[in-house]
Amino acid sequence: MILPIYLYGQPVLRKVAEEVAPDYPDFKKLVADMYETMYDSDGVGLAAPQVGLSIRLIVIDADPLKGTFPELAGVKMTLVNPELDILEGKSVTRDEGCLSLPGLQEPVPRVEKVRLNWLDEDFVEHEQEFEGFLARIIQHEFDHLEGKVYIDRISPIRKQLIRGKLKNIVEGRVQCDYKVKQQKPHKK
Ligand code: ZN
Repeated sequence: MILPIYLYGQPVLRKVAEEVAPDYPDFKKLVADMYETMYDSDGVGLAAPQVGLSIRLIVIDADPLKGTFPELAGVKMTLVNPELDILEGKSVTRDEGCLSLPGLQEPVPRVEKVRLNWLDEDFVEHEQEFEGFLARIIQHEFDHLEGKVYIDRISPIRKQLIRGKLKNIVEGRVQCDYKVKQQKPHKK
């Protein structure tokens, strides 16, 4: 089932998400719905707050980016209750977009290397280090669990420049080719 994606301005995107309990009702179905929703909207990552659920769950399928980043071929991960450690290293700035902020792309600084502890959808524990663009995707999605979005990390000048576009998203004046939930209905 394709779920509506909550757009910037929805309060759930600003909440710190709760841990997922192993007895969460219909958890496998929710994970499947999140993948379906992500594929339908051509995303490579989706966090549960983006479908209105304030829980610590992320799905990632980075395979569509393998043309630019060959190391992402076949990379598919379900992250439950992830814990992120930022590792030493330089910060790199690259453009990011977000399904909750349609029509926008902004340069965001992120560190190159992270260590992640997480549970998969069967609640089996994993630990691994990631670098490069996958580390960026993980940091972007992890931010959603902390009530942050990537534009919180851009320069004040850039933020000022996109102020009008942000207002349009908040007020529902935005076109999307995927199902969304907006703060206010579009007024003509
Ligand atoms: Zn996002």
